[in-house]
Amino acid sequence: MKKHNFYAGPSILSQYTIKNTADAVLNFADTGLSILEVSHRSKEFQAVIDEAMELVKELLDVPAGYHVVFVGGGASTQFAMVPFNLLKKKAAYLDTGVWAHKAIKEAKLFGEVDVVASSEADNYTYIPKDYVIPADADYFHFTTNNTIYGTELRKDPDSPVPLVADMSSDIFSRPIDVAKYDLIYAGAQKNLAPAGVTIVIVKEDALGKVDRPIPTMLNYLTHTSKGSMFNTPPVLPIYSALQTLKYYKQLGGVAEIEKVCVAKAAKLYDAIDSSRMFVGTANADDRSIMNVCFVMKPEYKELESEFVSFAQSQGIVGIKGHRSVGGFRASIYNAMPMESVEFLTACMKEFEDKH
Ligand SMILES: *Cc1c(COP(=O)(O)O)cnc(C)c1O
Repeated sequence: MKKHNFYAGPSILSQYTIKNTADAVLNFADTGLSILEVSHRSKEFQAVIDEAMELVKELLDVPAGYHVVFVGGGASTQFAMVPFNLLKKKAAYLDTGVWAHKAIKEAKLFGEVDVVASSEADNYTYIPKDYVIPADADYFHFTTNNTIYGTELRKDPDSPVPLVADMSSDIFSRPIDVAKYDLIYAGAQKNLAPAGVTIVIVKEDALGKVDRPIPTMLNYLTHTSKGSMFNTPPVLPIYSALQTLKYYKQLGGVAEIEKVCVAKAAKLYDAIDSSRMFVGTANADDRSIMNVCFVMKPEYKELESEFVSFAQSQGIVGIKGHRSVGGFRASIYNAMPMESVEFLTACMKEFEDKH
């Protein structure tokens, strides 16, 4: 049976990425060796990481004066690395969900944190709008896509201070004005590669400005000065990331990808909005085009687990909602084809007609 993968993360990757990675596991770049067993200092792998770095810059139109590095530790390590390296006295944070909350917790270890707004009291169903970013903050941190709640800020906010963003679950789904940012980070396992690598795009001038000592591996300068090769980088995930980046370029780049993502999300939200049984959980203005969260209306609530089972029986995987929202979450990342979204909407319709 064909499977339709709606997992939130790790999540769907393009067949191009998976096939090329599988090939390289058997024979990497005609070396007669597996990508799993080659030196990260080999010229063949150096070519991989160089090209991956260049493609990130090309796809996101990264201006001069920025570094792209590949590090381990997941986005969660960035929650601490960002303030460790950038917070001198005070930083501003927007609280839009569990991930933002965790980033705030880490930042408090390093200085004053001004939480400019929070939607926690409404279970993060919306993204706060009317807040003031203090002009004396070192940076303003926000999460572009709130993976758990299905809300998303699809623009680069105006700010009196440099931006820092966690783009783990929507990077490469739209053009970004990188010049507004001191730093962007993204764990790979939502829109790029298998888990294990995190992309960091950081402005050269933003580094080296804090007085505190920073452990070597947590200092961005260690990685920027050595082209992500201070120690052994996550070789296999970087190889896969390169495949996805090539694939994104073939698709025509992030502006083209955005059009398709918008169309896929519209298809699914239309199905939810026109349903008698399902209802979306996120504020309509803030809806994510990556993670679509919905539940059964109160009068059908007892059918939720039955719908999950029904969807599963049809080959739909990973549709169960996060425990803090309940119901369903359809993650429709870049690699998700429109046909799978249509398959899901047809299943929803069929289930509704039966009940
Ligand atoms: C998944 C996710 C994280 C956590 O990433 P890890 O790599 O597991 O540390 C952080 N932020 C966002 C927005 C995410 O979607």
